[in-house]
Amino acid sequence: MKTNVFGGRAKCLQRLIRMELPVPVTVALSFEAVHDIAVGHMPDMPALLAPFGAQPLLSVRPSSEDPDWGGPGAILNIGMNNDRLTEMTDLIGAEAAHSLYLRFVQSYAVHVARLDPDEFDLPALADARSLQVMLDAYEMETDEPFPQDPAVQLAEVLRSMARAWDGTTARLLRQAKGAPADAGLGLVVQAMALGVGQGECGSGVIQYVDEQTGAPKIKGRYLGQSQGREALGNAAGAIYLTRDARGQSLEELCPEEFTRLVEYGALCRVRLREEMQVEFTIDDTGLHILDAVRLQRSSRAAVRIAVALAEDGIIPREDAVMRVEPSALSELLHRQISPLTRRDIIVRGIAASPGAARGRIVLTAAEAQASAARGETCILVRRETTPEDIRGMHAAQAVLTMRGGVTSHAAVIGRGLGVPCVVGASDLVINRKRSQIIAPDGRRFAAGEMITVDGTTGQVLAGEPAMLEAALDGAFQTLLDWSDAFRDIGVRANADTPADAQTARNFAAEGIGLCRTEHMFFEDDRLGVMREMIFSEGSDDRRAVLDRLLPMQREDFAALFSIMSGKTVCVRLFDPPLHEFLPSDRAGMRDLAEQLALPLSVVVERVDALSEYNPMLGMRGVRLGIAIPEIYDMQARAIFEAMVAVGRNGTEISVEIMIPLVSAMREVELVKARVDAIANAVRAKTRMTFDYHLGVMVETPRAALRAADIAEHASFLSFGTNDLTQMTYGLSRDDAGRFMSAYVQQGVYPEDPFHTMDVEGVGELIAMGAARGRARRPDVVLSICGEHGGSRTGIEFCRKHGFDYVSCSPFRVPVARLTAAQSALRDSRKTITNS
Ligand code: PEP
Ligand code: MG
Repeated sequence: MKTNVFGGRAKCLQRLIRMELPVPVTVALSFEAVHDIAVGHMPDMPALLAPFGAQPLLSVRPSSEDPDWGGPGAILNIGMNNDRLTEMTDLIGAEAAHSLYLRFVQSYAVHVARLDPDEFDLPALADARSLQVMLDAYEMETDEPFPQDPAVQLAEVLRSMARAWDGTTARLLRQAKGAPADAGLGLVVQAMALGVGQGECGSGVIQYVDEQTGAPKIKGRYLGQSQGREALGNAAGAIYLTRDARGQSLEELCPEEFTRLVEYGALCRVRLREEMQVEFTIDDTGLHILDAVRLQRSSRAAVRIAVALAEDGIIPREDAVMRVEPSALSELLHRQISPLTRRDIIVRGIAASPGAARGRIVLTAAEAQASAARGETCILVRRETTPEDIRGMHAAQAVLTMRGGVTSHAAVIGRGLGVPCVVGASDLVINRKRSQIIAPDGRRFAAGEMITVDGTTGQVLAGEPAMLEAALDGAFQTLLDWSDAFRDIGVRANADTPADAQTARNFAAEGIGLCRTEHMFFEDDRLGVMREMIFSEGSDDRRAVLDRLLPMQREDFAALFSIMSGKTVCVRLFDPPLHEFLPSDRAGMRDLAEQLALPLSVVVERVDALSEYNPMLGMRGVRLGIAIPEIYDMQARAIFEAMVAVGRNGTEISVEIMIPLVSAMREVELVKARVDAIANAVRAKTRMTFDYHLGVMVETPRAALRAADIAEHASFLSFGTNDLTQMTYGLSRDDAGRFMSAYVQQGVYPEDPFHTMDVEGVGELIAMGAARGRARRPDVVLSICGEHGGSRTGIEFCRKHGFDYVSCSPFRVPVARLTAAQSALRDSRKTITNS
């Protein structure tokens, strides 16, 4: 029986039967059969009912391919009718028989006839009167008596469950969990084991590990005179499974059944190679196993369970690596707010997705995307989110909503993406007109201000409180170590600061693939000097100011090289247009004029002179390096002097220098000549030897086309997929958010290409560039360092084209290590299958 034909539940039940567990008679309906039912073609009902005898009493449960995709709720006691009531009364007593019938009428009325649930509450007393009231209510609402024929009842149940699967809500919910649009539903029809009656009767649910931590632990509840999963959720009268000081337990009440349940758990773990949650019933004929589903688990538990199964020899390590969804790792990776820090709470809401993150307030998804495209962190603050916000949520470090609960869109998506999220902060006011949020105490926070969202506690804090790095347990490390053994592509990190580098190192990045050096100039103490440099007159003046920046840069690099000792650090020379360092409003210019002791008019004039129509296509990257060579000179000197300083302590250093925004070979020649000259000067002055590699960031289409020429002067080519996507599409990174939703909705682009790598277009350019570069210089090192480097598509692309490594943000490194391993394993499995 295949999971993709009958669904996971049906497949699992079949295996339980083979394992000779006491499972009642079961018939499975395939995806195709259920689809046919949904469109009105019913199966042969007599044939379907035949295995269940003359007087069937049945349950129907959903069986989707992946249990996490959900499905309609189970319906029990199908077959109860007036005749059956009399017989059952003799068999199990009047109260139990009425209870069965009442439960069936209730779920039939609500889930099949879709009547108002408020009208069909279960009465406190299950007797003939309360049953009649419910049957009358049914007739009143539907103008028909309650159906008596079991075949009709079953047919209607099947039809309603099949149709519910096709409903919009169900589809959206499962798609949010990764189900494909055409995911199928199977149904399982099973003879009822009653759980109500005379003697010790009841039902319960047992699991064998803790769903939060993954640690071995028997958990669950048992409730006498109950059915299905009624014992769960603080049901009155439910008892513990194992002996417990707080009250009675199944272990004491039914020791024999309890022992068998524990044995079944161990058997399931070995034979089903999975941690299960088992639904059982006890009646006078003994123990029945009705269902076993894969235990729903937190990401942390998923890792621990997979590793434990492999360590116990139940599954191979390859399987353990394949079982953990890479995105689940990011949930474990988030920082937390330090317990020692003072919390300046703006508002409290519901903790919906764990981890803490800080960023600037943005009020729309488009702003979030623009902010991410600029490389800035942001917090998306919305009244509530809708599917249209998904790309904005992706781009944001955290999400805060005024409305919603733990299963609202923001919460579900936030958890899915591993983005910290607080929902239902209803005391917050969002003033869109003034672009601000207003806290319950009246404080106002404008868009652009820094806040911190703590998705673990539900608090939203002002400013940037101190953070603790994620605490990762041994299972996480083990899983990643195993992944590394299967991986065939390197993973480096994009890291600009010593803190980033430390995180990268903690996550076992194999080096830094992109250090955006300009970020170092935005620090408070440097910004002023940077601005002075921009305002300096002539080369000598400029050089004098840059001499003041030199020691700061040298310190930055020395810190990075020390932290990354033994691993390669790729330093990208200055990239952004200079105007990014200048104020954009009048007040800022006035401040600057004061600082530099210049007339305001001079400042305004200079800012105007630097402004460009298309700054991202203007005076930036290597163009600045050639037009104002003193900047790159200073950076090269700072790099080499830092190498000498750190190298003197015996630290192993490996440095690459990368030139951004190249579009012509001559640019590389010119910069290389100056950088080499500075290296020689530093060698001569310090009498120290050192080596470095010089390479090119391929992020213009022309650089990809001319990669052969360029590779003559470049020992590595690193594809910057952000700019390359921007320039290949002719689509501004900062403004694409404005129409991206419309484009994706109408299928113009299958996905936002800044988020999911465009393999067809941008990918072709990269493949061409890589092939041309490699043809001219066979040992040229190839990589991707744009945002796509850590994504599955990007990693699969790079593996396919034989790249040496990908580089991604430090927190993405573990995700990329696992993704790369899974991709390699998938390929090797394909090879085994094909050969
Ligand atoms: C890129 O363009 O892909 C890149 C990594 O550089 P940046 O994002 O700094 O422009
Ligand atoms: Mg770039």
